[in-house]
Amino acid sequence: MKISDIASISDAQKFILDLYPNDNRDFSYVFGYATRHLGYLCKSLCKNSPSVEEFIRSISWLLALANKLEVDVEVSLIKRHPDICPYCVVAPCKCRWTGKKPAIGIKAYKIPEELFYRAEQIKREKKADFQSHCERLAIIYPGNAYKWDAIGPWQLTSKMQEELAEVHEAATRYLSGRKSIDAVAEEFADLFAWLLSAWGLSFPEGNVDDSFIEYYLAGCPVCGNNENCECELFADLSTQLVDSDKIKELEKLFLALSSEVGFDGDEVSEVLQSLEAASKSQSEPVARAAVDQAKAKTEELEKLVERGAKNAKNATTIAQAIYKAIENFPFVG
Ligand SMILES: [Zn+2]
Ligand SMILES: [Zn+2]
Repeated sequence: MKISDIASISDAQKFILDLYPNDNRDFSYVFGYATRHLGYLCKSLCKNSPSVEEFIRSISWLLALANKLEVDVEVSLIKRHPDICPYCVVAPCKCRWTGKKPAIGIKAYKIPEELFYRAEQIKREKKADFQSHCERLAIIYPGNAYKWDAIGPWQLTSKMQEELAEVHEAATRYLSGRKSIDAVAEEFADLFAWLLSAWGLSFPEGNVDDSFIEYYLAGCPVCGNNENCECELFADLSTQLVDSDKIKELEKLFLALSSEVGFDGDEVSEVLQSLEAASKSQSEPVARAAVDQAKAKTEELEKLVERGAKNAKNATTIAQAIYKAIENFPFVG
């Protein structure tokens, strides 16, 4: 599946399968990364600063997990949320008033038939990409937006984590022969429903399918391969923890600034020592303090520049690069 040909959720799932074939990364391996990225996304949602990339990484690892279990995410989503809520069988959802029972006079045995009929209609007549599904969910569950406005993202993030746990439970029961694959597919549909609802509320002007395509335009974001990823096991991008390479980069910038300004007093060497300690220990408390120390000293050096030190232009450019590097440390702020 070529990145430019992706037009549906199934295409995106196939693209992930081609890029990351079902090789020696087993169920637990893929589940671990899905958990990591969903966890980081939930943290960012709670801080009101989720990034598009965090959503795409979570979606991608969940698609990879679905590939591992041969669950078709598009089919599962349409089957589970076919323009109506599967519990109260209407849209907008009235579960809050019916206690998750049908809001219309429909007998239990007729519910699957109604859901099936609606799902078939979507398959025939409507688009099946992530964004369309995201918009359908907003119509079925407008209550999510009210809660988001009233109490923030807490309910959505806890639901996402709960559903991820349920995917694991359903999957291990399926893998040990105690549950059907349909039960696993249903859990995937629920998890994706919460995830796509969170996307819609975080990026109301965005388009999740376009963002997915953009993320993979240059191939695997770690090894850069377009056809098949050639990453070693556990090769990944550092996103949240202290990365010594990034600290060393800051150290270089800071050294460049001090020599540009022509200032190399004890305080400069102390900053360098602190940054070295941070990159060596990769400990967050040390890194936070070291980065803070570097920032304060950079501000002082900048003031010296303003007072007429030579090479003012270069020094200002380096100082800006330092602030940018500091802003990009995930543990800062
Ligand atoms: Zn409902
Ligand atoms: Zn790769």
